Amino acid sequence: MTGTDEEGSRSESSGPQPEEPPIAEKPYEIVFEGSRCFGAGKCAAAAENWEMDLSTGLASPKSYFIGEEELNENVEAAEVCPAKKGAGVIHVLDRETGKEIAPDPEADGSLSLGGP
Ligand code: SF4
Repeated sequence: MTGTDEEGSRSESSGPQPEEPPIAEKPYEIVFEGSRCFGAGKCAAAAENWEMDLSTGLASPKSYFIGEEELNENVEAAEVCPAKKGAGVIHVLDRETGKEIAPDPEADGSLSLGGP
């Protein structure tokens, strides 16, 4: 598995995208392996930023760029997501350092795309 689905590949794009808000405003970014979501809905229960699409039964974030005040709930969503055998398909990154804050299964800040 490479994790190179459309959503996950956001993090692999080179350079800042024109629609990206300044880091000072929104210091965190969501990377979502949408193709591996199976609709458990735990993210939407944990965070305002996550909603279920009634037509597909799958989740999506309302915003891919988040501020300090939204960090905790998105970290919780990333940690409770049971996809990929509990590894999760929601990733919260620090845009300044590029490190993964959650779920960070390796505990080293590396982006945990793909896997089982
Ligand atoms: S918790 Fe994970 S698997 Fe469940 S809907 Fe949210 S993203 Fe999808």
